[in-house]
Amino acid sequence: MGPLTSEAQVAARPSIVVAISVDQFSADLFAEYRPLFTAGMRRFQGGAVFPNGFQSHAATETCPGHSTILTGSRPSRTGIIANEWYDQSLTRAEKRVYCAEDPSVPDSTSTGYTVSSRFLKAQTLGDRLKIVDSRSRVVSVAGKDRAALMMGGHTIDQAWFWSGKSFVTLPGVTQHAPAIVDKVNAAVAAQIAKPDLPALPAACRGHSQAVAVGNKEVGVPHPREAGDFSGFRTSLAFDRAITDIAIGLLHDLKLGGGSAPDVLAIGLSATDYVGHTFGTEGAEMCAQLLGVDENVGRILAALDATHQPYVVVLTADHGGHDLPERNQLRGIGDAVRVDPALFPANVGKQLAQEFNLPTAALIGVAPFGDIYLARDIPEVLRPRVLEAAKSRYLAHPQVAAVFTAAELRRMPRPGGPADEWSLAERFRASFDPERSGDLLVALKPHVTPIADTKGSLATHGSVWNYDRRVPILFYRPGMSGFEQPLPIETVDILPTLAALISLPIPVGEIDGRCIDLDSGSGDSCTRQ
Ligand SMILES: [Zn+2]
Repeated sequence: MGPLTSEAQVAARPSIVVAISVDQFSADLFAEYRPLFTAGMRRFQGGAVFPNGFQSHAATETCPGHSTILTGSRPSRTGIIANEWYDQSLTRAEKRVYCAEDPSVPDSTSTGYTVSSRFLKAQTLGDRLKIVDSRSRVVSVAGKDRAALMMGGHTIDQAWFWSGKSFVTLPGVTQHAPAIVDKVNAAVAAQIAKPDLPALPAACRGHSQAVAVGNKEVGVPHPREAGDFSGFRTSLAFDRAITDIAIGLLHDLKLGGGSAPDVLAIGLSATDYVGHTFGTEGAEMCAQLLGVDENVGRILAALDATHQPYVVVLTADHGGHDLPERNQLRGIGDAVRVDPALFPANVGKQLAQEFNLPTAALIGVAPFGDIYLARDIPEVLRPRVLEAAKSRYLAHPQVAAVFTAAELRRMPRPGGPADEWSLAERFRASFDPERSGDLLVALKPHVTPIADTKGSLATHGSVWNYDRRVPILFYRPGMSGFEQPLPIETVDILPTLAALISLPIPVGEIDGRCIDLDSGSGDSCTRQ
């Protein structure tokens, strides 16, 4: 059979479902760079364009965000409340856990961990497809383990992610790596061994302006020294390598050519490392996003070459915003770094003095988000310590709101347009009574929760829309595209894709709703 006509292709049920997550690709970056895209991102603009997608929950981090994309559920259901949280009931010495680890493995820690999806409480698209027909294959390739696992789920056939030194797979997999992975690993090792001075694309010249941040300079292209593995993650070569593996597996496994639909999840992670290291508004991000455009173009071309009907969604795990020093130079006078006094250890010390406790009263990963009362605080004192902690946070000029777990537990799951949600509703969408903190703290807008300029300079994770808003773009060859500026959520992706492949999703199991991608009188949500 020859290639299908475009109309027949749209009518045909997709045999490959592809999800591309561009880590930290905010709706603001999408808007800023739309005019510069010429390759894959331009093709997506002929599909169904939702420029106001929402990672609707409060904890706008990588792991929660990726957990929403193919589960149809917010972190309150997926259980992935943050990248890291505390479980004081663990028997191991370290009580901090990483979202994609298995803490039951002896001697594991939140940084020296065994990769696992056991914390993910929801089923992904791949998990659901395999229950219906075990011949469906699930392939997940990403720069980060948590991205690959949270999109892939519990029954991944092939998972590949960057370990810090090379692309690796899940623990316990003994089969030899596919040839494409060996090939990419060898090429990457050779690249890292040599220094790199990235060329500035002509289209990015207007973005090139040096800005001093502490003793660093950002905004202009940066050379990478030979052997710099972490610098590799902010180079164009990183996403290119991820793309090479994804395309290689698509081809070698003949995805879409079997008797049941296959899933390919791709996590392009470099944008996030660029954002953290250099901020979002310099030449570095410009060059990076033109690289994303090129890689997405290669992925679409590879899908075309399969001659199988496919659907692709492109979105992000969270948004982001620029570093405060450059924001101050560019019209945002209240942009600041967080006051270190807000770290849970520091507030916890003051509370320990106030209540005569032997150790700090509070535990938490960051100066916002989930904050826990120390387990050894006597039961009789806990309500008073909690009240005092809440008051101390609320009294600080950088704090916007504080909620207790009890307040959130009483709330129904939020509904309605995600851009209009209250802060409490945003936290409710992230809230898991088993895992969440006793206090949930929101910093004010434009407060970057990194106190100094020694490591990462910029970040995300806040309740504010610059961190919650992401593009959601659907593309099928031959579809008649449209743009819808009203908000939808990333949890709407799963039911939308499921409808296209007639995969039933039991009512009440997820938070998302199907989006009709047929701009005419048809309805892609009801077609059988
Ligand atoms: Zn990040």
